[in-house]
Amino acid sequence: MATGEVHVRPPDGVRSSSGTGTRRGPSDVSQEAATASLLAEVRACRLCADQLPLGPRPVLQLDPRARILVAGQAPGRKAHASGIPFSDASGDRLRDWMGLTAEQFYDPALVAILPMGLCFPGTGSAGDLPPRPECAAHWRERLLAQLPALRLTLVIGRHAMDWHLSRSRSSVTALVQSWRAHGPHHMPLPHPSPRNNRWLQRNPWFALELLPALRERVRQACAKAP
Ligand code: SF4
Repeated sequence: MATGEVHVRPPDGVRSSSGTGTRRGPSDVSQEAATASLLAEVRACRLCADQLPLGPRPVLQLDPRARILVAGQAPGRKAHASGIPFSDASGDRLRDWMGLTAEQFYDPALVAILPMGLCFPGTGSAGDLPPRPECAAHWRERLLAQLPALRLTLVIGRHAMDWHLSRSRSSVTALVQSWRAHGPHHMPLPHPSPRNNRWLQRNPWFALELLPALRERVRQACAKAP
């Protein structure tokens, strides 16, 4: 059992907007204060601590300036250890899918990272356990409310699809395959884990059709507003 340290490490949404060089108005300052206050609450969360084998350690990236939301499942063991979301092979693949460098991916003014469960849930016989259900129920609406500038949400895996897309009995494959039906602001994706290598081999349309469209949507979302 870990010490129970709760750590939302940089890069996260606590960094000041002053680094952008843009002038901030009163509403920006109050939004940043609201986000910082919420992050402090999240850091202190112990709601399901007795269900977490390594203890609470929320791993997320949140900043009201973010244009892209990565809505994933839950931090894995490596992300729990480092405190950095997607600091593993899944993250390398996801950045490649998005066409972003690590520097861009970890720029909170561009990308917010909010898994459905904020802490590592443990490992079962078939890989990591599902995100703790009480986490999204307790935190997600409030966290999403801190993201007024979002242009694109990457909806990764079953649990995020159940929340962000219409609850559907469709399989993950069917939901990803119907990516055009979810509009320009949502892109359903399989988990980028190496465990899905076989899925990627079986579904060549994903690399041929979806990934070029994803990279273009990411590029547009990152572009400065006219
Ligand atoms: S998983 Fe979510 S609800 Fe559970 S302790 Fe971590 S932040 Fe709190």
